[in-house]
Amino acid sequence: MAVATGIPSAARDFLAGGEKRLWIDNEYVDATSDSTITAWNPADGSVLGVVQEASAADVDRAVKSAQAAFDGEWGSMTPDDRGRILWKISEIVEANLEELATLETLNNGKPIVAARRDDIPNVAAMFRYYAGWATKIEGKSIPVSSGNYLAYTRHEAIGVCAGIIPWNYPLMMAGWKLAPALACGNTMIMKPAEQTPLSLLRLAELTAEAGLPAGAVNVLNGMGETTGDALVRHNGIEKVAFTGSADVGRMIVQNSTGNLKRVSLELGGKSPNVFFDDAPADRVDGALWGIFYNMGQDCTAGSRLFVQEGVYDEILEGLVAGARELKVGPGLDESTDIGPLVSREQTERVLGYLTVGADEGHVPVGGGRASVPGYEQGNYVQPSVIADTTNDARVAQEEIFGPVVVALPFKDEDELVRKANDTVYGLGAAVWSSNAKRAHRVAHTIKAGTVWINNYGAGDVSVPFGGFKQSGHGREMGQYALELYTEVKAVVASLDD
Ligand code: ADP
Repeated sequence: MAVATGIPSAARDFLAGGEKRLWIDNEYVDATSDSTITAWNPADGSVLGVVQEASAADVDRAVKSAQAAFDGEWGSMTPDDRGRILWKISEIVEANLEELATLETLNNGKPIVAARRDDIPNVAAMFRYYAGWATKIEGKSIPVSSGNYLAYTRHEAIGVCAGIIPWNYPLMMAGWKLAPALACGNTMIMKPAEQTPLSLLRLAELTAEAGLPAGAVNVLNGMGETTGDALVRHNGIEKVAFTGSADVGRMIVQNSTGNLKRVSLELGGKSPNVFFDDAPADRVDGALWGIFYNMGQDCTAGSRLFVQEGVYDEILEGLVAGARELKVGPGLDESTDIGPLVSREQTERVLGYLTVGADEGHVPVGGGRASVPGYEQGNYVQPSVIADTTNDARVAQEEIFGPVVVALPFKDEDELVRKANDTVYGLGAAVWSSNAKRAHRVAHTIKAGTVWINNYGAGDVSVPFGGFKQSGHGREMGQYALELYTEVKAVVASLDD
């Protein structure tokens, strides 16, 4: 396959390897089906690579391999040895940061500056953090009153798990699942999104280099309704960890009932980003990057901007001016603020919402495709603001997953809380105010898994993340994620002779 000449050398060798196969037992193997998936470069519409699609028979093969690893080398490894391998993975990810960041930008479109600064360091941090947890997964000793018994709990690995992940942060979403699952001693079969099938294969190669035993991590590419569905229905898989849309989340819950496998879900959002009159001075930047980070392709994007009436005009003007100044262009250009959207399909979807927004309100900035000279085939959309609409408009209720924010004024705290909670989602929210009591009061009343105060989107691998309401269930990251990947076993022993 021809590889575009503009691709940095860090990623060129990997991409030049030809059609990518399935990663099972620490090696590439041929899929049983002939079907393939094309990975595109959304910056210029060129072909980046082709991957084989895993059939149901391939899923079965991957499950057998993962079960053998669980029953064998990986499952019997000491916690200390597991931790060492996870730590080693984090080091190897850091050593290959430039290549991984480049692959992420080429396939997803995101600015390389963000991939280098945020995505890949986060993956390394996840493995480092959970390397420490591997030796600290402890049960409890429990006093009993019903007799002379010793009762204690063990937190045991679940077994073979599957991770089904989206395209917006391909490696980060993989790391959020792999690191805690492996720390607990599980084995994992990962299915990347069909739009971004490449970088996780490279990460899998690196895990083998770090000494991860064969079968502990298998990577299968494929479409959601085929490969993804086969994973969800497979009775040899004990747990599915999913990140993606609410509609697919619902399907996964329904289709997983065969063996009643455990399911954790991190779904969509329509997060309120709230500015009170007394918000601190850097407030406009918080509104701007709350939505436009990662081109708004973020489940916690601050897509509903609530601004108190006293500062509404000022913030809206600042936001509009800021949006105009953002540089739209290819992600590999270090001066790019806004890269292309991931796919043509996603671009059309977002443009459709902009048409709806023009009907439901007024669009003071953006509103359509962005033209980037020399990149006419890229998926560029202007950063856009929709004003003069209401919280019940479609653009204020439905997740757009693009660089589009809806600005809504409010009078007082009561009105704000009512409107902010008037959504089926509950993933993220932010409150900007100099009044600490008010900020915490509002943070406690908004129904969301994360509430930021005077920042948007700050996080850490140690801080739990997940959704209320239709944004999902279960918490990833931090100590809480261990609950997603362990079963609690009670052991009750008689102490009588
Ligand atoms: P998005 O809307 O962000 O593309 P999706 O929810 O459609 O998110 O996709 C997220 C992940 O879920 C992808 O890996 C996709 O292939 C997978 N997926 C889609 N449909 C199904 C399904 N019916 N069963 C299992 N996985 C699916």
